[in-house]
Amino acid sequence: MNERDSETLAGICEGIGLSPCDDPADAEVAILNTCAVREKPQEKVYSRLGELRKLGGPHGGPLIVVTGCVAQIDADELRRRGADIVVGPRCYDMLQSALEERLSGCAFIEGGDRPVAECLPAARASKLKAFVNIIYGCDNFCAYCIVPYARGREQSRRPEDIIAEVRDVVTSGCRDVTLLGQNVNSYGHDLPEPVSFAALMRQADAVEGLDRLRFTTSHPKDMTQDLIETMASLPSACEHLHLPIQAGSDAVLEAMGRGYTYAHFRSLIEAAREAMPRMSVTTDVMVGFPGETEEDFEATLRAFEEIRFDQAFMFKYNDRPGTRAATMEPKVSNAEKQRRLLKLVALQNATSRVINVATEGEVFEVLVEEADPKSAGKVRGRTRQNKLMIFPGEESLIGELVNVRAVKGFLWGWTGERV
Ligand code: SAH
Ligand code: SF4
Repeated sequence: MNERDSETLAGICEGIGLSPCDDPADAEVAILNTCAVREKPQEKVYSRLGELRKLGGPHGGPLIVVTGCVAQIDADELRRRGADIVVGPRCYDMLQSALEERLSGCAFIEGGDRPVAECLPAARASKLKAFVNIIYGCDNFCAYCIVPYARGREQSRRPEDIIAEVRDVVTSGCRDVTLLGQNVNSYGHDLPEPVSFAALMRQADAVEGLDRLRFTTSHPKDMTQDLIETMASLPSACEHLHLPIQAGSDAVLEAMGRGYTYAHFRSLIEAAREAMPRMSVTTDVMVGFPGETEEDFEATLRAFEEIRFDQAFMFKYNDRPGTRAATMEPKVSNAEKQRRLLKLVALQNATSRVINVATEGEVFEVLVEEADPKSAGKVRGRTRQNKLMIFPGEESLIGELVNVRAVKGFLWGWTGERV
């Protein structure tokens, strides 16, 4: 979601005649697009802000703009530390005038939970792959999560606006579209004429020329059999499901307010794998939620052993100010969180490798994205399962869908050969 937002920010800058430069010291404007979901990236914002403040350069240091979730939840602190413009994630339509005013000398600060504007420009990072927002904000308030505070209440975009954007990117050469939302399954309930996410998927699939359709993130409490069947039936829907488990213990899931049990989560994965045999499944998980016991953690390990995810984003829980979990006790010590994380990472890495080695010899459709930066004469791209494949090939293949045999499996994907 942040990457997609950065494309909008870049589009707005281009629109007022700014262009990217390599050295922040030469910059007239510096934008820090921020993430507040965990503590570390937020701390990084403050250190980057300090570094930018110290820059001299031809403009006496850039005008510093802070956008994203930290801008929403910590505007006063950012201003105190020297940010010139602070813009929360629902207010990017106001950035252009703020930049223009500020470049000519007036101050401007804005945040707030308000409708997100349509039709903002975007300078997209890739021609071949695009992110398309379908729903902004989140109403779930999981106990640990800052997102509902930073990105506000749910707001679905109108299906015709979404489909127009999909059509637009496909017309300009995009082959792989990811529909974005904190919980895509909530899509459409707030529209004047409610539309289900599965129905939106069908509309997107019908866009001529779209080869690959993906979505993220689906919330297990709202994932339906209808969506699984829809995925299986649509030619463009990729065989990849990102379904965050967060924890394997029912007690921890309950304390997190996630609204599902491990048994339910597992049944969803089983149904998805049954409907789409070549499905890859990825997840998010955290260790050391307040009150997580050794037995709870072992339930997470067991869940990982049973489900065998293709890949996982694994985090140490940390307190986010203002969330319910921040006041929950007892806290798990950092050393213990670290120990649990390393154990889980070791298990997951072994699983990823075994899965990729076990599929050596199979042929996958690859969307070739770029020359491999590490080896001459090779290109790389992603399979429909969203795994990386590196294989010998000319740069003229970039943008093509080609069939590639997986020759050697690694943690990250495969090296292969064209068939
Ligand atoms: N909407 C998505 C998650 C968005 S946040 C969902 O419901 O799954 C991305 C991931 O960051 C989460 O899945 C979670 O694993 C992690 N995360 C969120 N808050 C966190 C916190 N306080 N500490 C550690 N990890 C956190
Ligand atoms: Fe955060 Fe939960 Fe909303 Fe995901 S569903 S963004 S974890 S509150």
